[in-house]
Amino acid sequence: MSSEPINEVSKVEQNDVYKQRRTFAIISHPDAGKTTLTEKLLLFGGAIREAGAVKGKKARRHATSDWMEIEKQRGISVTSTVLQFSYKNRRINILDTPGHEDFSEDTYRTLTAADSAVMLIDAAKGVEPQTIKLFEVCSMRGIPIFTFINKLDREGKEPLALLEEIEEVLGIRSCPMNWPIGMGQQFLGIYNRSDRRFERFTGRGEGTTNIQVDDIESEELRDVLGADLHEQLQEEVMLLDIAGDPFDADLVQRGKLTPVFFGSAIANFGVETFLNQFIELSPAPGPRRTDEGLVEPSDESFSGFVFKIQANMNPAHRDRIAFIRMCSGRFERGMNVNHVRTGKKISLAQPQQFFGQGREIIDEAFPGDIIGIFDPGLFRIGDTLTESGWFNFEPLPQFSPEHFARVNVKNTLKYKQFHKGLEQLAEEGAIQVYRQVNRTEDMILGAVGRLQFEVFQYRMNAEYGAEVELTNLPYSVARWIETPNLETLNYDRYSNLIVKDQDDRYVMLFPNEFATHFVIDKNPDVMLHTTSYGM
Ligand code: GDP
Repeated sequence: MSSEPINEVSKVEQNDVYKQRRTFAIISHPDAGKTTLTEKLLLFGGAIREAGAVKGKKARRHATSDWMEIEKQRGISVTSTVLQFSYKNRRINILDTPGHEDFSEDTYRTLTAADSAVMLIDAAKGVEPQTIKLFEVCSMRGIPIFTFINKLDREGKEPLALLEEIEEVLGIRSCPMNWPIGMGQQFLGIYNRSDRRFERFTGRGEGTTNIQVDDIESEELRDVLGADLHEQLQEEVMLLDIAGDPFDADLVQRGKLTPVFFGSAIANFGVETFLNQFIELSPAPGPRRTDEGLVEPSDESFSGFVFKIQANMNPAHRDRIAFIRMCSGRFERGMNVNHVRTGKKISLAQPQQFFGQGREIIDEAFPGDIIGIFDPGLFRIGDTLTESGWFNFEPLPQFSPEHFARVNVKNTLKYKQFHKGLEQLAEEGAIQVYRQVNRTEDMILGAVGRLQFEVFQYRMNAEYGAEVELTNLPYSVARWIETPNLETLNYDRYSNLIVKDQDDRYVMLFPNEFATHFVIDKNPDVMLHTTSYGM
């Protein structure tokens, strides 16, 4: 959707447009209800008329898109998109973070384009593995994290136990903004602590009844809840008031405290309450670090960085789209910008924004927005674009892969194509490539999600004419090594492997997380980092 024309708006107001932007990602484990929640959010934005417009898993299976063959075969989306809609004077950008088998480095990198995150938790499952991984990336960036605990219409864990789990597993303090009463069959609703409003749950699709209770001890509330649950609510809310973390906007901004909301996405219950508070409490785009200091969103000249490249959306044209997160200034269609890495001036023609499955050409965009640009093979992940100046945004880190494979070209006559493909796909960020130390001809691939291997194999063949063979390796963890002396490193040569990444940094591969402790214990002067950033 394009932004409102702003021709008559003064320059000062123009520079303020970004303040309405809320750019965030929903982080969750598959099946927690991300698609369902996204749909409800879009409904509030009036962006869709009925639920179901967001590509569902089943719909995807039958989609007759002209995207990569592999997408059709597997019935999943290889890449993520951005959804934009307006709500109460705010412009919301939701960054999609693929899960399931299509989990990949893209999922992590997308989080670098977000200003905040919504952590969605299934009340019955609690904090699950993929949530932990995504949380860690957000936490590393220090962005605010809002929690929505979903599926209260079903039996789940006790709310207090869930808060404890969040604090223990993720190491973040929590502050419930509302509190559920009952769950599953007995789910009666939520009590909003700030405005003392009780929202009554009347079942799926029947809307919400609000009861204003100025006094939590009121007779009226007892009539609705029954004596037992009324008493329980009073006790629990009192406990939160006395023993819980108070709301602290500053701690939320720094990612140290997560406001927690309860609800049921499928019943559209608690979602509006969440959204209303989220747009108030979540941050507008802020400053971003570059090698020449901070860039402010209010800076007049355009800047942004490429955080994702989506290849082969249409194999007939082999087009690629580079997704750019805007960080400052105003973007206009056709504008000329500096492509800092190559030192070239380029024209940003045909910019696109994405809505659901469709896309449309946009004329302008503001900080916080995501723009898709046709990429003739020029862009790489992390590239900076500026209207003036030649600075670079912070490089995007590489993340620890979980799958490793040795790669060989089937036909040795294709060796040149093989190397070109390897080099380009690694630069593009589609896969991580490592070289074994002392045996530099041995190439090892690393991927965060298995599908990345399939995409790699497919593209090597389709784009470079090199058929490749992958042999799985028994590693599942990579750590970037910081050591004064690699020679004296004490480690188990049978189960660990030392390799070099694309930038010649030393990386050690482990069969599992546990094995990393051995190296840490045996080598007190060595640091092992989970990303190439040294974190
Ligand atoms: P995703 O994998 O995180 O995108 O999850 P989906 O949105 O596809 O939801 C996974 C399953 O959970 C689907 O069967 C949904 O209908 C169901 N679901 C989502 N939200 C709720 C909820 O609030 N209550 C219940 N009972 N089921 C839900």
